[in-house]
Amino acid sequence: MSENITITSNQIMKAVESLKELRPVYGTILDFYGQIFVAQEDSKCKLHIDPIQISEEMLSIKAEENFPLINMSEFAIDAKEAGNLLIRICDIVKKAGGDMVSTNQTVLKAIEAGKFDQKELFASLLNEDDAFFENTAKELEIEKKALAFIAYNSLKPSLSMCAEQLSAYLDKDKPWGKGYCPICGSSPGLSMFQGEGERFLICGFCWHKWASNRIFCPFCDNTDTKTLNYFFSEDEKEYRVDLCDGCKKYIKTVDTRKAERIIYPPLEQVATLHLDIKAKEMKYESGIHFA
Ligand SMILES: [Zn+2]
Ligand SMILES: [Zn+2]
Repeated sequence: MSENITITSNQIMKAVESLKELRPVYGTILDFYGQIFVAQEDSKCKLHIDPIQISEEMLSIKAEENFPLINMSEFAIDAKEAGNLLIRICDIVKKAGGDMVSTNQTVLKAIEAGKFDQKELFASLLNEDDAFFENTAKELEIEKKALAFIAYNSLKPSLSMCAEQLSAYLDKDKPWGKGYCPICGSSPGLSMFQGEGERFLICGFCWHKWASNRIFCPFCDNTDTKTLNYFFSEDEKEYRVDLCDGCKKYIKTVDTRKAERIIYPPLEQVATLHLDIKAKEMKYESGIHFA
């Protein structure tokens, strides 16, 4: 079973306002990300992506071997629209001020000067070409993480649209049951309880959502209740952090049944940084590659 995440810009802004009321300390960060997420949803409406075709034969091999439909490097993207979004994201960063402003200006100037092009940036992200990010960041004297942030956030609408198109190939009657994304093989970035308490995992890369067992660590397949724990705060009943003593990793969980607001997973992800801090203090590691 799978389900796509569709939400309007208006709903994102409403979710931002609800979260700001609940957690005023996140005001600035929520405003910032709210604008980025709205820009991404707007951009998604303008995308032109030819759906990836997978033959019946390939599909049955993948299903038999529990392989994801594609790997990260195979995502179909709209590089032109991602490039437009990159400029818009740089503009949002500029207006927000803070540490990333000079980084973004440097990236824009470097692109204008032809030091590298956006296509190369996006391809390097999809190919996990760490050397490109390492060298480019060094050459431009910027943070590698900031360069990856800009590249990933510009590509995110393409990734989620491509994942939505591909999800038509997934067998709706056969639960995936794995801890990695059935679309792209990445680790989940967030977990959710919905409906009657069914658990879903959300891909940390393409944001595809898939059904999962409740008692299960997606990072090491642990199902032993003795080594699977969680913590939560009385003040924030809609969140909990699932901890695995098998692999010492954690995943944040949003219990949508306990939240009276629109749930937009990327926003919940950034509004819970205090939980990441707490889990890391408890010596657990995040399983996410891209944040
Ligand atoms: Zn994925
Ligand atoms: Zn584990």
